[in-house]
Amino acid sequence: MVFMAVGVGDTEVLELGKALRAGAAELAGNRQVASLSAQGAERLFDLVLATERSMTALKLQLAARFAENHGAKAADDLARKTGTSKAKAKRTVDTAKKLKDQPEIEDALRNGELSQDQAELIADAADVNPSATGSLLHKAKDHPIDDLRHECSRAKAAADGDEEATHARVHRNRRFTAGSNTDPAFWGSLYGTTADGADLMAHLQPFRERIFNQNRKAGIHLTSEQLDFDALMEMARVAYQNLTGTRAGDDEDGDAIPMPPPPKAPKNVYVVVNFDAMVDRAQPGEETAYIAGFGPVPISVVREVMDNAFLVGVVMQGTEVAKIKRFGRRFGPEIRDALMVKQRFRCSTPGCTNWLRIEIDHKQPYRRDGPTSYTNGDGKCDTCHDEKTARDRLFWDDTG
Ligand SMILES: [Zn+2]
Repeated sequence: MVFMAVGVGDTEVLELGKALRAGAAELAGNRQVASLSAQGAERLFDLVLATERSMTALKLQLAARFAENHGAKAADDLARKTGTSKAKAKRTVDTAKKLKDQPEIEDALRNGELSQDQAELIADAADVNPSATGSLLHKAKDHPIDDLRHECSRAKAAADGDEEATHARVHRNRRFTAGSNTDPAFWGSLYGTTADGADLMAHLQPFRERIFNQNRKAGIHLTSEQLDFDALMEMARVAYQNLTGTRAGDDEDGDAIPMPPPPKAPKNVYVVVNFDAMVDRAQPGEETAYIAGFGPVPISVVREVMDNAFLVGVVMQGTEVAKIKRFGRRFGPEIRDALMVKQRFRCSTPGCTNWLRIEIDHKQPYRRDGPTSYTNGDGKCDTCHDEKTARDRLFWDDTG
């Protein structure tokens, strides 16, 4: 509340604001910026980014006042004032209101430790689960924003008194909305439970691989969004062809063109479960289960889908992997992480100091029934991995 100290009039604060505005305008228009040395440019960039964060803290503080003054029209008025979408203005207003009761987050913002996107995520999660504030602020420091987003959704779910009800609500509100816009173009968007999302993406994966390989052969590079789109189209077409035994473009004589080979099996889905939750000993508020890369899922749903052939259950006791329900060929992120920590993020070959492109290898080969487990896993750099594979071929003879 530095800016509202008793005895300091509006004028003094507004003078500070005007000086800041003038300084920023001057710097932005300064032609010498274009001819800065590389180091100088980087240093100035740091200063600008730090200033932007301080401004974000100030902006949110003032947005809370703005919201008080403008009431129900606050988001609309702010959207007009800032030239942003109403959705974005509403997020700003909501975050500003929440921050009034979250001094820890407000301080971190003011100290330049958070971007506005990070502050919005943390304020939203801390509003539901205040005890997670510290760990979320910590997470924000050195993790990508997608990690923070997952962590926030886990924190919210952990505080959710009735996880099942949340799951049911999301399921009830499931939707595939599609339409066309002024480009003119088609657009579509999906909303559903984490379990359905993981299921869909697992089934989409073989089609992604097929499209990826087809394009690579043709020398075409697709973005991951383009790949997802093409894979979805391919999945829909193939589903129809498989039902009817025909392909679009059947020739005029009516001879069916041979079906494309079936895609590979869906990708494994990793469900990480807290052991206490599996045996109904979880404390209220304690996290129960989540699908790696997707988010929390109620334990009842996990039990229901445990038999799904493409699902791998990773049961955790504290931070240790206690049990893996089914072994696929690929090592899940949990095992990978555990092994990498054990090996201090380096290749396991004695004398090899490589730490780039570490692959998790089966000590006892997979084709020789070697389990995909923590104890049978071994992180090797790609050079050592290739050597090991060549040796295995000789030693195990028929591994192929
Ligand atoms: Zn190595």
